[in-house]
Amino acid sequence: MSLNKTVLITGASRGIGSAIAYKLAADGYDLALHCRSSVDELKALADSLQKEFNTKSHLLRFDISNRSQTKEVLEEYLLENGAPYGVVCNAGVTADNAFPAMLADEWDSVLDTNLGSFYNVLHPLVMPMVSARKPGRIITMSSVSGVMGNRGQVNYSASKAGIIGATKALALELAKRNITVNCVAPGLIETDMVSQEIAEAALKGVPAQRMGKPEEVAATVSFLMSEGAAYITRQVISVNGGMI
Ligand code: NDP
Repeated sequence: MSLNKTVLITGASRGIGSAIAYKLAADGYDLALHCRSSVDELKALADSLQKEFNTKSHLLRFDISNRSQTKEVLEEYLLENGAPYGVVCNAGVTADNAFPAMLADEWDSVLDTNLGSFYNVLHPLVMPMVSARKPGRIITMSSVSGVMGNRGQVNYSASKAGIIGATKALALELAKRNITVNCVAPGLIETDMVSQEIAEAALKGVPAQRMGKPEEVAATVSFLMSEGAAYITRQVISVNGGMI
């Protein structure tokens, strides 16, 4: 059954974003599904959600590190559809390297994509959400690396720690507007982002002794998105099998 509420999810074409789309569709939300290049995968996802849950999906394509392109696509979306109820800033990248060997481009691209996108995606959306004068939800995607730091990921850890600070500050600004702003910090999750080599090394630090499933992150997002989570804001919720 449709809730008549739309959630925009960045990076929905695969991995955690696609699991979030599936779960929120099952919950009854309409969706705005985004990717950068995996358009076929995104279309296939929208088709299967339509068949299984009768979900209405709007497809969006832009590079979240490109400020002007992101603004242009989102403003066009807002004109046609109005402000979404919820936003999940999920899309992100890694470019791992030991810090002494890290290239300037590896630093810049990860910071511009993961942290720059906080501004690029949310800045065009926040005022329309506030002006709608309705409850809203913003959920950002950090990482265990942003909470505790991780070797070989100085760039990624900085970007994901930055997301936590930005999320908490925006939560303060939006709390009295009934818009909650929370951060999910996954540990080691089975997606394309995590190679077998990384997984084997990192599993030693996971008390649950297994990788998490994208669906286990999606379940947390689903809860934070729900009406029942209206009094939870400015929080970082870890989904990491006990890593910290
Ligand atoms: P995947 O690599 O499986 O998917 C990444 C998604 O982000 C894709 O949909 C991709 O779209 C999109 N994306 C990447 N770069 C851009 C860009 N510049 N512009 C627009 N879209 C982009 O990642 P995961 O599902 O594993 O990760 C999702 C989020 O969870 C990320 O923020 C990640 O940092 C975080 N995370 C993941 C963990 C894990 O263990 N997997 C652990 C902790 C956090 P396209 O295919 O079109 O490029």
